[in-house]
Amino acid sequence: MNRSIGKYRYAGRKKFSADKFDPADKGGFQGREEAVLEFVDNLKKINRLQQKLYAERKEGLVFVFQAMDAAGKDGVIRTVFNTLSPHGVKEYCFKVPSSEEMSHDYLWRFWSALPPRGSISIFNRSYYEDVLVGRVKELYKNQTWPDRLKGTDVIGQRYHQIREYEKYLYETGTRVVKIFLNVSKDEQARRFVSRIDVPKKNWKLSLNDIKEREYWDAYMEAFEAMVNRTSTKESPWYVVPADHKWYARLIVSRIVLQTLKEMNPDYPVNNGEEFEQAMQYRQALIDSITDGKLPDSLPEADALPIEVSIDEEDVRLFSEPDAIAAEMLMGEEFQKISEKGRSLKKKGLSAVSRLAKSGYKVKYTDEIIKAVVDSDKKKG
Ligand code: ATP
Ligand code: MG
Repeated sequence: MNRSIGKYRYAGRKKFSADKFDPADKGGFQGREEAVLEFVDNLKKINRLQQKLYAERKEGLVFVFQAMDAAGKDGVIRTVFNTLSPHGVKEYCFKVPSSEEMSHDYLWRFWSALPPRGSISIFNRSYYEDVLVGRVKELYKNQTWPDRLKGTDVIGQRYHQIREYEKYLYETGTRVVKIFLNVSKDEQARRFVSRIDVPKKNWKLSLNDIKEREYWDAYMEAFEAMVNRTSTKESPWYVVPADHKWYARLIVSRIVLQTLKEMNPDYPVNNGEEFEQAMQYRQALIDSITDGKLPDSLPEADALPIEVSIDEEDVRLFSEPDAIAAEMLMGEEFQKISEKGRSLKKKGLSAVSRLAKSGYKVKYTDEIIKAVVDSDKKKG
């Protein structure tokens, strides 16, 4: 297993070719069970680095997500960013522009979504739509343009404008990292079918998404051009294989972790006058505590117990970020529950025991104990 994400990174030199990219890549893993421990570990590290990023407030960070429909953007965002502290992260979903947005330049609506220093903005779709659907459907042709701009290569100019925009942001304290979840046409069809077949997923159905498959090749060309024309060292693109949701989530966790490591945030040192003065109050504060005692040591974040509950519908590990691990591990399995019934429970239990074996404190709830007893009974 190769932990490097270099293979998926486009930073200006390497060319992305949709034909040569395997959306079903699993990076040498056999299955999601092998990935879960690294995933949990990455989330913990991300969590700690985010605390520092927020405390330090030096630089803002934007993660841009682009993908064909049903590639799993929402799931990736939910699982990878779920453990971050809400005060330092915000998601923005960019849909078809409103008439007000349409009456401005295409970058106008993004300014107010940029993160303050120390925070993270997640762009669930972005200005890249303007060189994706905008290019495929030639949407710019519906816009009114001043006479002097008639006949210009609008899309060609946008690649250049976006590169400059991101460079400007980089130079003024905001880093933009872009992630393209690359799902195959076959896998997209499978996911659409399951949105039709599985009642729980019906709400995700969209006829438009299905019809859009007609333009698949044109979209792939647009994604290729987007990556090749807007990748830079400072604002790289990552093209992530997305046919296996758990793998995409793992890779995105690596990307987020790697980005934060590169930014290398640290808690600011407060040794100024204010600190000196606070020190003078220290003893008075202790004296004001009823029993005059301080705790021996602060609890380790890592040692937080996790509580697990399993029922027919869902598997949840309570406490961050282990909850997400279970979801990552179990996510697709949840959907199959009506077909497979009990296999879910077994998988849930093995996930839990794996976590327990690798040193996570697992608190067994009544449901789990019952599930274990039941499955033991079955085995005889
Ligand atoms: P989900 O379907 O998971 O709720 P979504 O991101 O697909 O999330 P939708 O409302 O279904 O949300 O789709 C948003 C649509 O908005 C996409 O089809 C996208 O192409 C379109 N869109 C986003 N930005 C632009 C833009 N600048 N110009 C035209 N269309 C855009
Ligand atoms: Mg949609």
